[in-house]
Amino acid sequence: MTGSITRALHHRINTASTGTVVTPIYQNSAFPADSPYFYTRKNNPNISEIETVMAQLEEAEHCVAFSTGMAAINSLLNLLQPSATIVVNRDIYGCSLKLFIREAKRMKFSLVQLDLSDLKDIDQIPKETALVFFETPTNPFLKTVNIKTLADRVKKACKDTLIVVDNTWATPLFQHPLTLGADISIHSATKYISGHSDVMGGFAICKSPDLAEAFREVRFYGGAVMDPNSAWLLRRSVQTLHIRMRCHVATLKEMAEFLIQEPLVSKVYLPVVDGKQLKDYGGILFFDLEPDFSGAYEKFRDALQLFSSGTGMAAVTSMVAQPYTGSHASLDDEEKAQMGLGHQLIRLSFGLEPTADLKADITQAFQHLKAQQP
Ligand code: PLP
Repeated sequence: MTGSITRALHHRINTASTGTVVTPIYQNSAFPADSPYFYTRKNNPNISEIETVMAQLEEAEHCVAFSTGMAAINSLLNLLQPSATIVVNRDIYGCSLKLFIREAKRMKFSLVQLDLSDLKDIDQIPKETALVFFETPTNPFLKTVNIKTLADRVKKACKDTLIVVDNTWATPLFQHPLTLGADISIHSATKYISGHSDVMGGFAICKSPDLAEAFREVRFYGGAVMDPNSAWLLRRSVQTLHIRMRCHVATLKEMAEFLIQEPLVSKVYLPVVDGKQLKDYGGILFFDLEPDFSGAYEKFRDALQLFSSGTGMAAVTSMVAQPYTGSHASLDDEEKAQMGLGHQLIRLSFGLEPTADLKADITQAFQHLKAQQP
């Protein structure tokens, strides 16, 4: 007969008989060695569930979930041999670029930075390249890289070159890189997939079982696994992704038209939605702020009442940021200059607020800025 402490330690409800509609959170590190899970650093029911959902959305066979988007991107480096050649698009998220620059120095990778939105630059990709990495639409200028053209040309020169698309901004609803010839689609789940600024996560999605196995090994030995609670939250968030995106798309169209009319806005950056590669797009845009006096961004930001300036985007609430001091802060001034990034570039991420309220807020912030102009 065991005592009450031992009985309390061992008591478990039988989840199999509950008929639960929602999968419970398996906040659990240890599974039997012969189970498909083994140990949460290897796998877990919640992680497995979100991986299957993401693979389905991307029309792919495999998905491996990481603790953050950067962990998923970092895992790519583990697929490479020292002194490999890597090509990255110049116009990408600052931390991704910095990671490649740092690791290239450390691992003696040959790092080639190109403008892959330009077909001439696609033809500059060296034959022996091990990995090509880009976002499309790009961050911050929302340019398009033609995935199919790039994949066709690169694979013709070397079929083993891995083509990796960071699909975060397009979302798995609006762009399927693997159907266009890419080998790997990467996501920061922290953005639209979460959509609520409350979870971090990353995904590496692929068709090849060998690549999927390589990602699983990198994750198991490197330890950057998604935690079960985040996997559960992301699975819940994905259930409203298509509704949220529909709202983001409509809001972005209306807000872009509104901003183009604004005298203090000299340029609005939007991606090309061609209906083939990119089926639709919402709800983040960039614009150049015309009064380029010192502190202009800060004055505009501080006057906004509905836009949070937290380091984030793609959420149910609106956000404002300056890539120079935010998403691309880890680059030095020279690296920013190479990218063409200045202080005047502002990012707006529109949430699910009614557009009339967003317009009123932006209008009053511009009025405030005009009044402050030296
Ligand atoms: N990829 C893109 C396009 C991003 O914008 C970000 C973050 O902003 C990342 C990757 C990194 O993702 P995480 O912040 O989840 O590590």
